[in-house]
Amino acid sequence: MPQQTRSQTVTDEATGDRGLATAIGIVSGARRLVAFTGAGISTESGIPDYRGPNGVWATRDIPHIDRIRTDAEARISYWRERRAHYPVMLQREPNDGHRALADLERQGRLLAIVTQNIDGLHQKAGNSPEQVIELHGSTHRIRCIANGHLFDGVDIQARLEAGEEDPHCEICGSPLRSATILFGEPLPERALRTAAAVAQAADVMLVVGSSLVVNPAARLPTIAQRHGAKVILVNREPTPLDDAADVLIRADAGPTLRAMIDAVRERPPAMVDDDAGRND
Ligand code: NAD
Repeated sequence: MPQQTRSQTVTDEATGDRGLATAIGIVSGARRLVAFTGAGISTESGIPDYRGPNGVWATRDIPHIDRIRTDAEARISYWRERRAHYPVMLQREPNDGHRALADLERQGRLLAIVTQNIDGLHQKAGNSPEQVIELHGSTHRIRCIANGHLFDGVDIQARLEAGEEDPHCEICGSPLRSATILFGEPLPERALRTAAAVAQAADVMLVVGSSLVVNPAARLPTIAQRHGAKVILVNREPTPLDDAADVLIRADAGPTLRAMIDAVRERPPAMVDDDAGRND
């Protein structure tokens, strides 16, 4: 991110709610807000993040794409694990953070959500699928390796539970795989292009629950800021972009977003503060 020419509001236990109040002013004036979410927005729904102490993604073996393409044993072991864990994922419900972002869409302020998450909780909370850009795919879709034919995760789960160990595509016979990014794969080009375009068009980028260490997604707040957006960062822990954010709120995502969006909803348009975000 470019070096600060703007003021920054830091909120933590020491400084109280100033960051939240500033963020409410900024979001009240937003017409093209882009939310950029990471695993941290879903921890309050019971899905561990990647780098946290209980991160199942850290402890589980995410396979390499080459092995999934070529090694039936690797696929069988992958499907066995998925068969055990997918029903738990299906039971997860959106929390206040997801619901607040769905409210933002209903208020007509949201341009898009760009997410690193694969859990589908933004859509489950009520955001329209076309407004959610999934950089790492979705665990609720399965596709065939050869031709990209798509299947519903629930249907494939039924086949696994019926005894299939290495399900193949019903259309072309190719082995199947999850439509999420595996190790050794680039991010989907179309999603990346759309994410960069909405970052450039945003007037506010609200970054929630990402450690911001994985590129190229971690560059999106910088792109947004270079194109004139204010960046509000909500995270429990420090991130490499803290110093560059216009507003930094070090707190839990769910209650923070709920409070922010409730306050924004109560603000009549006449109260929109064009200078919001100034810390003077
Ligand atoms: P990450 O695990 O690297 O970072 C999560 C960040 O969120 C951390 O900085 C943590 O301090 C913060 N955090 C955790 N709970 C929080 C809360 N309740 N409120 C505020 N902040 C909170 O996540 P990432 O940057 O998204 O990268 C992880 C990768 O792993 C992603 O690429 C994603 O595809 C994958 N993943 C996805 C899920 C999911 O779909 N829910 C879960 C785990 C991992």
